[in-house]
Amino acid sequence: MIDRPPSHLFYQGRNRKPVLDQARGVYMWDVDGKRYLDGSSGAMVCNIGHSNPHVLAAMRDQMERATFGYRLHFETEASEKLAVMTAARTPEGLNKVFFVSGGSEAVESAMKLARQWAVATGQGQRWKVISRTPSYHGCTLGALAITGYAPLTAPFDPMMRPMPKIPAPRAYLDGLDPGDPLTGLHYADMLEDCILQEGPETILAFMVEPVGGASTGALVPPAGYLERVREICDTYGILMIADEVMTGVGRTGRFLATEHWGVVPDLIVMSKGYAAGYVPLGAMVAHDRLVDPVLDEGGFQHGFTYAGNPLSCAAGVAVLEVVERQGLCANADAMGDVLKARLEGLMARYPVIGDVRGKGLLLAFEFVADRHGMRPLPREMAAYDRFVQIAYGNGLIVYSRRTRGGIEGDHILVCPPLIVTEAHI
Ligand code: PLP
Repeated sequence: MIDRPPSHLFYQGRNRKPVLDQARGVYMWDVDGKRYLDGSSGAMVCNIGHSNPHVLAAMRDQMERATFGYRLHFETEASEKLAVMTAARTPEGLNKVFFVSGGSEAVESAMKLARQWAVATGQGQRWKVISRTPSYHGCTLGALAITGYAPLTAPFDPMMRPMPKIPAPRAYLDGLDPGDPLTGLHYADMLEDCILQEGPETILAFMVEPVGGASTGALVPPAGYLERVREICDTYGILMIADEVMTGVGRTGRFLATEHWGVVPDLIVMSKGYAAGYVPLGAMVAHDRLVDPVLDEGGFQHGFTYAGNPLSCAAGVAVLEVVERQGLCANADAMGDVLKARLEGLMARYPVIGDVRGKGLLLAFEFVADRHGMRPLPREMAAYDRFVQIAYGNGLIVYSRRTRGGIEGDHILVCPPLIVTEAHI
């Protein structure tokens, strides 16, 4: 690695990383010429792989026409087209698309639209958004208030209004069979209990990652869970918001992860795979019945300067075209099976792997000290850091996060771009 002076940049910490030079397909190269297989698509973002020529050409074309037009001054062909394409790929009734530049912005937008809908429809007493622990919904204060992950939220607790949380359905830790519909009901009941305890009339929405992302390590809901959650939300007039920031646009083998269970949310938020890392872009997609009353009552009091800019939207259109033309949802499904089987093969060989889970190409494995009690490895082993370093040293990028609230337990996410082949796996 080249010798570098101290950086003026800072993110989470002080450790220096290799300097990226180029990226093509599933590979990335640093300035020393070392090649890495992008086994996590960045942060589960680069779903169609790097430097896709169709997307680059679409961006170049748009750049030569106009890169920015403020949404209150102009509509653009690119944003109109992307909205039409998005509405066509989301469930019936979810026809209203609101653009943003990332996942946290999409989550904030959904919370605020939900709240404005409640106010506009005479339900101003509804403001609480229930979510799960662990979960991750973003780093802005609104999204953080519904994030169930203490290491990220604790310093900011005094700045946020507390929101109710229920446990995520981690059947594998609780010794329950995720395939048994009673398990799904058991965890869904926790939502109903929470609603009753808080007062159903105060609850605005339930925010859920249909397949968990970094916080739970690709947690797949137990049988019947999301279906029952949908019923409970309907019973109490509560909005179901699907956080598909990580799962959307094919990552789990369907365009939306909620499709696996035939569940139709009231609001969907997407970002990562939506423009696949080519530009910052995200969307909130809402049911007409939520948006119309808000527009009737003077409009949605919310919006970001860069929202719906033509360059981002042109890239988004091209990304959706690539996903479709190359059959990437189906490839994620098929290659997900292959990769999961290979990870299960590792689990059979190495008792230190306690669980392999996920759907499509949103896959993870978890380290444990013993499989029966699912006890985590001792912290001082730093298995998480060591594994990532070894992988990195060998030219494989993986994504890791402390699973169990940051105190104990590790998981590694293995989520290559959806263009991955068996040879790459
Ligand atoms: N929601 C989920 C499920 C995520 O995984 C993330 C990011 O990892 C976010 C929201 C926040 O997205 P962003 O980092 O683009 O703000």
